[in-house]
Amino acid sequence: MKVPVIRNILEANDRIAEQNRELFKKSGVFVINLMGSPGAGKTSLLERTIDALKEELRIGIIEGDIQSSRDAERLARKGVPAVQINTGGACHLDGNMIRGALPELDFSKIDLLVVENVGNLVCPAEFKVGEDVKTMILSITEGDDKPAKYPLMFRESRVLLVNKVDLLPYLDSDLETLKQNSLRINPSLEIFEISCKTGEGLEHWYTWLRNATGASKKEP
Ligand code: MG
Ligand code: ZN
Repeated sequence: MKVPVIRNILEANDRIAEQNRELFKKSGVFVINLMGSPGAGKTSLLERTIDALKEELRIGIIEGDIQSSRDAERLARKGVPAVQINTGGACHLDGNMIRGALPELDFSKIDLLVVENVGNLVCPAEFKVGEDVKTMILSITEGDDKPAKYPLMFRESRVLLVNKVDLLPYLDSDLETLKQNSLRINPSLEIFEISCKTGEGLEHWYTWLRNATGASKKEP
């Protein structure tokens, strides 16, 4: 029977993720699990975010990719601690992989940890890694039908960043349709329209991050 096996895997993962989360909480680190398709702009978003907020927030990165350390190197060039996890074929990060990366980071020097998940719209939504929130970035070029096709991603995310809105004049995708389809699945989803290329809309994301990390600091 497949179903019980899968449930056991997820339950075992949830336990490890919960232990990671305890450690993050104790260290006062706010953790985002950033998900999205390959090419949606996850690493570009992080480059922009680091540039904008590095004087205010100490940011650390765990970078998940099937292969290569290109993205971690891109972010390390911005002067932030960045650890690369190569999943060796697996299409998502899980709690155990994050636990393996924890000794590489000094959490007394990190306020915000972003875990950039493997580019994939399916199973990253099922696996917790110890995050406070899941955040999803979707390029408008991917189309406005994605919420109907990958509902779990939209349901699990607290924030949806719709990237590359500077390309809207050249596309058939409709932003309002995308937003309505997303909110039908998750009415409390916060949606920001952004372009990592032009920078438009990113100020709203930065404000959200300032508030989220500030709030986590105030917790006992
Ligand atoms: Mg990337
Ligand atoms: Zn997977």
